[in-house]
Amino acid sequence: MKYLLKNGTVVSGEKTEKQDVLIEGERIAEVGVNLQEHDACVMDMTGKLLFPGFIDAHTHFDLEVAGTVTADDFESGTKAAVCGGTTLVIDYASQDKGGGTLKEGLEKWHKKADGKCSCDYSFHMSIVEWNEKTEEEIEEMIREGITSFKLYMTYPAMMVNDCDLYKIIKKLNEFGCFAGVHCENSGVIDALISEAKAAGRLGPENHPLVRPDDMEAEAVHRLLVIARQADAPVMVVHLTNKKAYHEIMKARECGQTVYAETCPQYLLLDDSVYSEPDFEGAKFVCAPPIRKKTDQECLWQALAEDKIQTVATDQCSFTMEQKALGKDDFTKIPGGLPGVETRGTLLYTYGVREGRITLEQMCRLLSENAAKLYGVYPRKGAILPGSDADIAVIDPQMESIISAKTHAYRTDNNPFEGFPLHGGIDKVFLRGHLAVDNGKLVEEKLGKYIYRGKKQI
Ligand code: MN
Repeated sequence: MKYLLKNGTVVSGEKTEKQDVLIEGERIAEVGVNLQEHDACVMDMTGKLLFPGFIDAHTHFDLEVAGTVTADDFESGTKAAVCGGTTLVIDYASQDKGGGTLKEGLEKWHKKADGKCSCDYSFHMSIVEWNEKTEEEIEEMIREGITSFKLYMTYPAMMVNDCDLYKIIKKLNEFGCFAGVHCENSGVIDALISEAKAAGRLGPENHPLVRPDDMEAEAVHRLLVIARQADAPVMVVHLTNKKAYHEIMKARECGQTVYAETCPQYLLLDDSVYSEPDFEGAKFVCAPPIRKKTDQECLWQALAEDKIQTVATDQCSFTMEQKALGKDDFTKIPGGLPGVETRGTLLYTYGVREGRITLEQMCRLLSENAAKLYGVYPRKGAILPGSDADIAVIDPQMESIISAKTHAYRTDNNPFEGFPLHGGIDKVFLRGHLAVDNGKLVEEKLGKYIYRGKKQI
């Protein structure tokens, strides 16, 4: 199949210009002006923005959390993703603690995902314990296309201690790989939880109080000191606040390579959401928690200054019935929010349209930087001859309001309920297939597993 997209505005990380794009089969064949192709299906893209398909490098589909499983799995989750212009998700596979191998973890995640995805997919691998066997498995993971890893400094089922943290990030760097790290101080958070419970403070409004910004900043600081000792790059995932951001900036001033990711919920929501009546605050329980308005401003400024490399979502959705597992104890509320569907349109509406970031920055944050960090550029993350024909078409004229009544997720709540969107996803091409047309999913389950190479920045 050939498509000729005429007169669209093509956005890259460097420039925005009127161009025609010729798609042949699964690839982009040509990009230029006045392209002609007699046997192609011609589409007029006048007034539309053509972005390289968005990459969401932080999702959790079909994940067991707190005795339940996320409401969205790879089937519903990737449908929501592609409807929102995302053509590649990188989900987190995990080793099991207590002798589980990375290979077993990877097989388990392939079973969850294979054949079900409506956009392309890959995995990061979470390392939850470290021994000689795990070390030997790193090369095997690289052969399987897994070149990025995840480490937790909190959560007993997954956290690694400082000794292993040091060893792992050092070893990964020897292989040209790196880890994204969940930074929160586990010990003090446990103590604050005990204090809250002893005082009978059991509602969701206590969630941000027991996971304060200082305890995220402390973990970021410790990670970066350890990374300096190991002389290794690291990625701070889901960065939420000003204090933690300053730790990153200090380390960079000392010459360290530190990548950072944030998410729309930290840019657009503030911690007043936890005090919503009737247990509504539970909707927003995620870790690290949503912070203050001043933190939002700091993160937007960091995006404008290119100090944060990617905006991902940490998609991890639950229904209100599932959230009610913590009705009498906020620590039992399964943590996480949906987000994979609206990342692009939220960043366009509240970032580009409000003048906080440029179209080129949006392209880098949603697509190009992730492609380079996670080793798929320029196959992904670019509209260039030879790239996969993954294209998200934004129509700046489309208007909508985010609502759980109309979203594509299986979950029944949306943290951005009522948010107006100016600009919507009109079409999405996934490797040359028209997967979304007029904002509707028209071809599903075309997603393929993507083998990734090593980082390119
Ligand atoms: Mn996560």
